[in-house]
Amino acid sequence: MIKKCDHTGCTKAGTCRAPKSSDLKEYWFFCQEHAGEYNKNWNFYSNMTPEEIEADWEKQTFGAALKDKDKANKESADYANFINDFITGRDRFDKVSNKKSLPSKIVSSLKVFDLPLSCTWREIGVKYRSLAKQYHPDTSKQKKNTAAEFAKISEAYKILETYYKK
Ligand SMILES: [Zn+2]
Repeated sequence: MIKKCDHTGCTKAGTCRAPKSSDLKEYWFFCQEHAGEYNKNWNFYSNMTPEEIEADWEKQTFGAALKDKDKANKESADYANFINDFITGRDRFDKVSNKKSLPSKIVSSLKVFDLPLSCTWREIGVKYRSLAKQYHPDTSKQKKNTAAEFAKISEAYKILETYYKK
């Protein structure tokens, strides 16, 4: 028996199979026209949990999903907290920073990360992770200066690491 096209209101025969979700367990049956339309619009991520999307993204970016999930989740929570502190407390950060004197190499490296002079090593770490993702040559959309930017970030991180990580 030939099924009717699953597209609402369509009376043509549903001869084309299209996956309902990314696990490919269930399918719609569409006529050729509606199958084409569906495939074009199908969002591969639509049925994934945020964790699955993140894992898929990491796989594409780094070649494998990050193994330590708890740690990764904790870091992103840390980063959200940090951003929140940073936005709400910028004045406070800046006031503290005026009293501190840091080597100029450290100051310019913090500038690369757009971080206040009063930031902690942990804050540098989460910001680095975020920027490294953003400018990773394999994933960044703006191909042109990505490699140079990525190198700049890595260099700044190395300098900060020698100063902060004790
Ligand atoms: Zn149809």
